[in-house]
Amino acid sequence: MPVNVPLQAYTAVLLVLVGMIFVIVGATDRRRRWLLTCSLPLGAGACAAALMTDPSLLPGLWALQLAGAFLLAVHGFGWQVVRRFQGRSSVVGWAIGLPVAWLLFSVFICETWKLPEASAAGRALVTAIFNGLSARELVRERSDALPSRALLRASFLFFLVVAALRIALSALLPTPLGGLPSTAWAVVAFNVLAIAQLLLTAALLIILVRERETLESERLTLRDPLTGLLNRRAYDQEAGLAATRAMGRVSRPIYGRRSRDQTSGGPLTLLVFDIDRFKSVNDRFGHDVGDQVIRLAAKLAESVRSESDSVYRVGGEEFVCLLRNASAERGMEVAERLRGAFEFAASTVDGLRIGATLSLGVASSDDTWPDIRALFTEADKALYAAKHAGRNRSVLAPSLREAA
Ligand code: GH3
Ligand code: MG
Ligand code: MG
Repeated sequence: MPVNVPLQAYTAVLLVLVGMIFVIVGATDRRRRWLLTCSLPLGAGACAAALMTDPSLLPGLWALQLAGAFLLAVHGFGWQVVRRFQGRSSVVGWAIGLPVAWLLFSVFICETWKLPEASAAGRALVTAIFNGLSARELVRERSDALPSRALLRASFLFFLVVAALRIALSALLPTPLGGLPSTAWAVVAFNVLAIAQLLLTAALLIILVRERETLESERLTLRDPLTGLLNRRAYDQEAGLAATRAMGRVSRPIYGRRSRDQTSGGPLTLLVFDIDRFKSVNDRFGHDVGDQVIRLAAKLAESVRSESDSVYRVGGEEFVCLLRNASAERGMEVAERLRGAFEFAASTVDGLRIGATLSLGVASSDDTWPDIRALFTEADKALYAAKHAGRNRSVLAPSLREAA
């Protein structure tokens, strides 16, 4: 098999180089220490390739058998990488145990009884198990919705199907795909498959890490830490975008927030609301209870909004709810629902009779040009009208056309 030697040597060197990149990144960046785990499958792959470069390194078929076990460990360690990425601990014992079990089975049973197909089928079975376990890890829902997670899962499922086919065809395919005497094409096909999976998995993991970091920096810059709501900065970015959308123009949504901006056209309605006499809540019950009341307002606002609406904390105890494709009537309906729910829930918090209420101002662009600044000014005026009228109420701003 002359084609075998340079190919395997090349593979071993390539794997060592890529593995070293992960070691360097994992060792130098504390936040990415888990990337050290990525060097395990690459190291095992390099050992396998090195053993296959010269099978006479070890007596009998030991070099090739050991190489087979190292290749299985690549999949097992790959599964550990996925677990670490998903924030779970690694179970290295299984990643080593299954390949060792196959090695013993292959050397002491298959070789003794001359059953190369059984050895090949066993190898494909362990590969299928590891690919299946990796795909299963990626089904577990995490709080961060990363677009490429499904792609990585699909890739593991694809290689699971390839392994399943190898089990079914183990008596018909040449080594290393199956159990028949080896041929050059089978060696090439096997290597192409192995390298394709390695590169695909590595590339998708790098993309996933980037996606997670982008999401995290979005969370830090656009979210309010006390309530988890979007903050003033997010409002400034998104409100203009929503107005453009309401006019029927298409513009790019902010990364990772696609779903919210899919409602195009239709009137835009703003709810601006503020907790009544909040200073006295702080004064009477303390800042921590005050924080709890703010969180309660945020939670209720999130619960009354629909999928296409967004809630922002734009000040200490001041919030905005942006309703896309919603009329003034719907705005008032949401405002009253929120006011009623808050009055009920904030009457007693933690056994303390707080009796906090909300005042809300509502303004809708209806069929007029949605000028977001004018809309905010009108809603804010309506909020003040609600405060002056005695608080704990919702006031609808006159239509912008009338106001002009
Ligand atoms: P009004 O009914 O007119 O709105 O009266 P108010 O007392 O709510 O008026 P104001 O807006 O002046 O008071 C807001 C208070 O909210 C002042 C500030 O100390 C408090 N506050 C701002 N941010 C926070 C926060 O994050 N946590 C807590 N506990 N209090 C906050
Ligand atoms: Mg207030
Ligand atoms: Mg206020």
